Amino acid sequence: MTTEFVKITDPSTPQSISAIDKAAKIIKNGGLVVMPTETVYGLGGNGLDALAAKKIYAAKDRPADNPLILHIEVPEDAEKYCHVSPLYYDLARAFMPGPLTVIMPKKDIVPFSVTAGLETVAVRCPDHKIANALIKAAGVPIAAPSANLSGKPSPTTAEYVMEDMNGRVDMVIDGGESEIGLESTIVMIKNDTLTLLRPGAVTYDALCMVCEKVEIANSVLEMLKENEKPLSPGMKYKHYAPSTPLVLLDGEEENVLDFLTCEIKTKKCAILCYEEESDLLHGAELLPIGKKDDLSAHAHMLFTSLRDADKLGCDIIYAHLPPKTGLGLALYNRMIRAAAHTIKKV
Ligand code: AMP
Ligand code: MG
Repeated sequence: MTTEFVKITDPSTPQSISAIDKAAKIIKNGGLVVMPTETVYGLGGNGLDALAAKKIYAAKDRPADNPLILHIEVPEDAEKYCHVSPLYYDLARAFMPGPLTVIMPKKDIVPFSVTAGLETVAVRCPDHKIANALIKAAGVPIAAPSANLSGKPSPTTAEYVMEDMNGRVDMVIDGGESEIGLESTIVMIKNDTLTLLRPGAVTYDALCMVCEKVEIANSVLEMLKENEKPLSPGMKYKHYAPSTPLVLLDGEEENVLDFLTCEIKTKKCAILCYEEESDLLHGAELLPIGKKDDLSAHAHMLFTSLRDADKLGCDIIYAHLPPKTGLGLALYNRMIRAAAHTIKKV
């Protein structure tokens, strides 16, 4: 299949409107379009079409038991696809449109191939002009997992999308770099309790401001035990991982620098470093991810840095172990997976 590549800078120009209309037709006809969102790029298809969902799994080589997220135009649209509760609207008022995905019991209209056989469905209302225009023009919810091959880091630019998806989808819309750079926060609603299944830019603390009871699923911070079934099927896979081994360093800044200075002498190292460290580490391939305390910058740069680091032919990639607070929890969750839980105390 030939993949059409379209760049959109301003979605309100006549050319962009016609490109979005073309993309919407592809979706309505059962095809696949990669769209930019504020989190990461999404691989979209008609979320009410069982065959389109199957094509998404095939294009990504995604295991069939890992369900898809339905992207909707406005929060109220969730009522068409799931049984919503008052807590959903509390969340919608606080965080939608935005990087929050909510899981609720599904209605019959949603095919089981979208939910991987589950009785629940995940919905999200993105905060991105192009994604929103496309969902509106398509007139259907867009099922869209991250637009990477299964197991690879989620793409945050259209160039990375093309590395994985060229020839596997009908169209790729280039809308520039993803603003956030990490996938959405995922929560499940059960009665009046929220369970955090995947942390993202909507933080645990922010969720606690809206709901009194917020639990954190085991799989967010820990390796699953053998045969343990996670609430979010995606959490059982080694995710976002480069092919070069990644090791996370847990220790005081000074100790990390001492350790790296020694390592650089004997190994070809790629280092995801803070900007402040750039001048202190010589002889390694450095991938600065922003200032030490700027977690939003780290989130924005993480997947790009992992993909770039992987192309350098290094023996090993080192990175700091992020804190587990605020946005750090989302970084921690992604990085322990990318590192297959390899943490070195220094
Ligand atoms: P991705 O869109 O690639 O970020 O992946 C979507 C994530 O949402 C996966 O980790 C899924 O496990 C999770 N997810 C989607 N639907 C459900 C559901 N009904 N129940 C639990 N997790 C879900
Ligand atoms: Mg994904």
